[in-house]
Amino acid sequence: MNAPVTSRPDIMAALEDRGHRSTAPRRAIIRILEGKQEGFTAEEIGKELPDVGRATIFRTIKLLLEADAICKLNLINGAPRYSLSRVEHHHHTVCVRCGNVGEFRAATVERLMRAIGSDIPGKIVGHRIELYVTCRQCMTPDQPSRNSEGP
Ligand SMILES: [Zn+2]
Ligand SMILES: [Zn+2]
Ligand SMILES: [Zn+2]
Repeated sequence: MNAPVTSRPDIMAALEDRGHRSTAPRRAIIRILEGKQEGFTAEEIGKELPDVGRATIFRTIKLLLEADAICKLNLINGAPRYSLSRVEHHHHTVCVRCGNVGEFRAATVERLMRAIGSDIPGKIVGHRIELYVTCRQCMTPDQPSRNSEGP
């Protein structure tokens, strides 16, 4: 319960805890993922690691998903994107133009989920929320920005 706030979970250790060997290709894949704050596709990883086979990349992604080290995001169109899971419970924004993945937490959403729990048959044990957005970089500068968040 006293984990240092700044430390990132050691992803390879998480895999080893689950009985998976620390191999050079797996370490190479994880190193690249850690540099990709904005999310990635399996194909992008493959391009950066031409020596690592596609099967190894997909298998490693599957292991990371099982270990909850990364999140899988289903895009409206296009290949699924993945992003490192940095906080325990969070939701995602995905840019529909460039695929940039963001994380957010919102107390309002959690309150809403608790509130509707009584209207839903059964017990809610979890939820996933993905908001599809046009990110700041993809908004054209000539569009009037009416929802500026101010300083
Ligand atoms: Zn996530
Ligand atoms: Zn974008
Ligand atoms: Zn939530």
